[in-house]
Amino acid sequence: MIPTGSGRVAGVMGWPIGHSLSPRIHGYWLAQYDVDGVYVPLPVRPDRVASALAALVTLGFRGANVTIPYKEVVIPGLDAVSDTARAIGAVNTVVVQDDGRLYGTNTDAYGFMEALRQGAPHWHATAGPALVLGAGGAARAVAHALLTGGMPLVRVANRDRARADRLAADIGGAIQTVDWATRAGAAGDVAVLVNATSLGMTGQPPLDMPLEALNSSAVVVDIVYRPLETPLLKAAQGRGHVTVDGLGMLLHQARPGFAAWFGVDPAVTPALRAFVLAEMRA
Ligand code: NDP
Repeated sequence: MIPTGSGRVAGVMGWPIGHSLSPRIHGYWLAQYDVDGVYVPLPVRPDRVASALAALVTLGFRGANVTIPYKEVVIPGLDAVSDTARAIGAVNTVVVQDDGRLYGTNTDAYGFMEALRQGAPHWHATAGPALVLGAGGAARAVAHALLTGGMPLVRVANRDRARADRLAADIGGAIQTVDWATRAGAAGDVAVLVNATSLGMTGQPPLDMPLEALNSSAVVVDIVYRPLETPLLKAAQGRGHVTVDGLGMLLHQARPGFAAWFGVDPAVTPALRAFVLAEMRA
């Protein structure tokens, strides 16, 4: 649909922004639900983040997604942030409220949990501890999701142990940090193993994670989605583990923003996944 003068507008702020898949996801839903609206990529220079946030209000945007490298730096420019975003320390979704105030939240944790539930329906939070590899922004969202989802213990292993310790202190709850060198041993009793590092991503070194100690019932998740089938997932599938790739998290995290901006709660369907995959493979 071509938007009318009363169409709703949202977008995604980042730098660079050319590789973002969000316009494709939201564009698919706008067409599917015949919404009078548009979702645009917003290349925002690093010295313009504050003015870009203010411009969302000035220009009548309903809101925006925020992506690399701005998920943390936007926080001071917002009028309010959700408890989830505060705990994670990052905002990926901004909503312009009716009174013009900017509200920020983080839907990565929601997206992760939905993807896990959909990809591993047999999995349940009380099945045992989790091991999360990484302590960056994505790992923070994953650890928060697992804890609020009811996992009794979340172990975090990161190359920089101090960063993992900061994650544990900021998020609170039953998080135990372990040395990166001991990650294989720390996986022995886990119900879910999550790669939330950038290792295994196109252009990055592979993740070195021996799986021999892993219980055969453990679910293995890799939130890296370029490539979709990472070496970790291939190795886990070879050992018979149920695996969950990173695309589900990306699709599900988009849903709350679309609902807030465009007034329709959209579905994450196999057709949407295929539509986004086609772009990734192009
Ligand atoms: P950050 O840059 O904040 O964190 C990177 C993480 O990778 C850190 O824990 C870092 O460890 C670790 N790392 C990097 N290089 C190495 C290495 N050589 N050896 C060991 N550890 C290493 O990135 P994000 O947290 O934002 O993103 C992480 C990944 O998650 C990315 O691949 C991103 O694409 C993906 N992602 C996927 C999403 C989805 O929807 N599926 C959403 C968000 C992110 P250290 O602290 O020691 O440097």
